[in-house]
Amino acid sequence: TRTPLIAGNWKLNLDHLQAIAFVQKLAWSLSDAKHDPSTVEVAVFPPFTDIRSVQTLVAADKLPIAYGAQDVSEHESGAYTGEISATFLRALECGYVIVGHSERRTLHNETDEQIAGKVAAAVAQNVVPVICVGETSDDLEKHGPSAVPVAQLKVALSKISSTADIVVAYEPVWAIGSGQAATPEQAENVAAALREVIRETLGDDVAQKTRILYGGSVKANNIAGFMREPNVDGALVGGASLDLNEFSSIVRYQK
Ligand code: 13P
Repeated sequence: TRTPLIAGNWKLNLDHLQAIAFVQKLAWSLSDAKHDPSTVEVAVFPPFTDIRSVQTLVAADKLPIAYGAQDVSEHESGAYTGEISATFLRALECGYVIVGHSERRTLHNETDEQIAGKVAAAVAQNVVPVICVGETSDDLEKHGPSAVPVAQLKVALSKISSTADIVVAYEPVWAIGSGQAATPEQAENVAAALREVIRETLGDDVAQKTRILYGGSVKANNIAGFMREPNVDGALVGGASLDLNEFSSIVRYQK
């Protein structure tokens, strides 16, 4: 059995002071709700400049909140201006890092090959990559629902071994920030196809234990439908993760 993961991708929002205030309030809300981290894991993905502050707060108060970065370099060190290595994320005790988000793929021209390098760099430092895949509405029309995410995941997994600890996030590009979420059935069908890719590439054990998240216009009022699906093990939440009440309600979803 897989522990569900509810993850908040803050994107380019909240500076380090706002991050401290938000994480503190989120922790109070979880504590008020008698949140049990063994039933649902909660993670936040703040901008790089917030991570040291979040680390300090989480460690000092032993908060039941995991955290990670929104991107990582495929390189270990060197002349790569502006990049952040997986080693640096490990040093800040990041549990996770988002890799291959569609906004990185489209706005920063990240390729599947580069994403495979980032996945390998994260795994090498024991930072669990949250590997994002998803099709555009154009892809959906031309190739059907799972062809593009399946092809993206195959390449993303090509540089790691069968022992790797990973999370996969299915985020249809047409559902991100659009208010038009996929249906639970659509998410389940692609998630099942992605689990099959993991099985073929990394074996049955990894396929069984890997959490596959759905992302794209997840809100408090649609989370339960996704969580009822057997192959959907959580959500990667964008906009709604910045609203404390909304995000807390998503964490407290009832199947
Ligand atoms: P929204 O929840 O705002 O649609 O964003 C989803 C997303 O991109 C999470 O990574």
